Amino acid sequence: MNNAFLQFVFFLVAVCAGWLAGYCFRPRADNKDADTSSSYYKGLNYLLSEQPDAAVMTVINDLPVNLETLPTHLALGNLMRSKGEVDGAIRIHQNLLSRPSLPRDKLHQVHLELARDYISAGVLDRAERLLKDVVEESDAYRAEALEHLQHIYQTEREWDQAIAVALRRLPPRSWLKKAPVAGPRDRRVECALSHFYCEKAQQLLAEHRFKDANIALQSARQFDRDNVRAYMLSATIALKQQKPQLALDLLHTVVDRQAAFSSEVLPLFREAFNNFGGREAYLDALLRIAKATESSAFIIEAAELMESKGDAASALQYLLAATRQRPTLGLVNKVIAQSDVEKGPALALMHDIVLKLRAERPVYRCWQCGFSGRKLHWLCPSCEQWGTITPIRGTQGD
Ligand SMILES: [Zn+2]
Repeated sequence: MNNAFLQFVFFLVAVCAGWLAGYCFRPRADNKDADTSSSYYKGLNYLLSEQPDAAVMTVINDLPVNLETLPTHLALGNLMRSKGEVDGAIRIHQNLLSRPSLPRDKLHQVHLELARDYISAGVLDRAERLLKDVVEESDAYRAEALEHLQHIYQTEREWDQAIAVALRRLPPRSWLKKAPVAGPRDRRVECALSHFYCEKAQQLLAEHRFKDANIALQSARQFDRDNVRAYMLSATIALKQQKPQLALDLLHTVVDRQAAFSSEVLPLFREAFNNFGGREAYLDALLRIAKATESSAFIIEAAELMESKGDAASALQYLLAATRQRPTLGLVNKVIAQSDVEKGPALALMHDIVLKLRAERPVYRCWQCGFSGRKLHWLCPSCEQWGTITPIRGTQGD
């Protein structure tokens, strides 16, 4: 059952509930009941015959606005928005706002729905103004309004404002050690907050404001101790500040806590040792990390370093042992390349096939929604959660 159908069913239920409420609680012998029922049926007929504009105009012009009919107005507005008829949804919600007879809490609800319409239409400044009003005036809808505001600032890459809103969404001081463990909802906010600080740090890094960037990254780690992005950015700054040991400590923290990201930190490891360490020390570090994490990227890097030192035989033996223990497409490809491909067409063919297989495979996957691709997104493009995409491990990954 798709979402649009569910919305439609919801609308039908709202129509029936509204009609029943109107029927049961009507004053006796009131002609308005007949008019109201007629408006319901007219609007419903237009909907069933795929005439959304006519349905909207019928509901706006003929269906009175009161507490009994409000669910129907709201359901139709939501249905219009979910079907992409944003103009119709806006007209319905603006019509409700023009009726001062509605109580204040219901008006806040309509403000929230209208803000959703504007977000769908891409008119974010209007949505922002409405949501700010709801945040200030409504206890009941503040949480929802803050969530939408955070989404707007995230879309506009206004990281300071996104941080301020996300902080308001958290219970006071929930991130302190002595506070109760955060629930799933707060955990998602904390994770987003951590990435907002990373985004801010990246901007500061581009401006060479290393001290301010480091302060932002401290906050990023405070809200999510496992945010590898924060450690990688801190290591990048440490390298720029000629602090190789600090960079290596930060990178070791990443591979210790999240081995799946080993392949992502390898370029920073390489840079640290290229600039500040010797080749022997680099090979020792690679072998140690490769053993601990079983990362194909580290194993291949170690084998290539051995080969560059003139020890091709040891490199091949090392690769063969690693491939027997934990075969991956990357290792198989490297073993074939390390062997003499010119020896025969069979090896050359296998090499081409493995290369093609690797090129077709996704490299990253979101553990939340299953989205996969060949580029690392810190914000999943599919489920829009932060920090849920990780490098794929196993035979077809690292
Ligand atoms: Zn996802």
